[in-house]
Amino acid sequence: MNKIEHIGIAVRNLEKSIDLYQRLLNTDCYKTEQVASEFVNTAFFKTGENKVELLEATAAESAIATFLEKKGEGIHHIAFAVDDILAEMDRLKNEGFVLLNDQPKKGADNKMVCFIHPKDTNGVLIELCQEIKWV
Ligand code: ZN
Repeated sequence: MNKIEHIGIAVRNLEKSIDLYQRLLNTDCYKTEQVASEFVNTAFFKTGENKVELLEATAAESAIATFLEKKGEGIHHIAFAVDDILAEMDRLKNEGFVLLNDQPKKGADNKMVCFIHPKDTNGVLIELCQEIKWV
């Protein structure tokens, strides 16, 4: 795995949190994006090399809604950039990790993503993400 690509933070109110993080990081949100398949609205910030992703649920069946109910607002996942997500998924499966999706799926911010079950990773939800390259 390469660098930490971003840290995902679950928030109850995206609009208020965008304002908060703009003041906190002293930088503008560079992108907001709805991921309809995941029932989330997202907002992204760049801080140097790193990114912060804010996630708000858009429906009760959203994983973010469940997370907020159980744990409240806070760090939801850590995303690592990978060069070859399929190879990395295979490697992790062989290591015995439980992947939450069998195939990479389209995530926010032009990424193919896969999540690893937090029961295998000390309670931290891990996201693998590979930049989608348009040729
Ligand atoms: Zn993410």
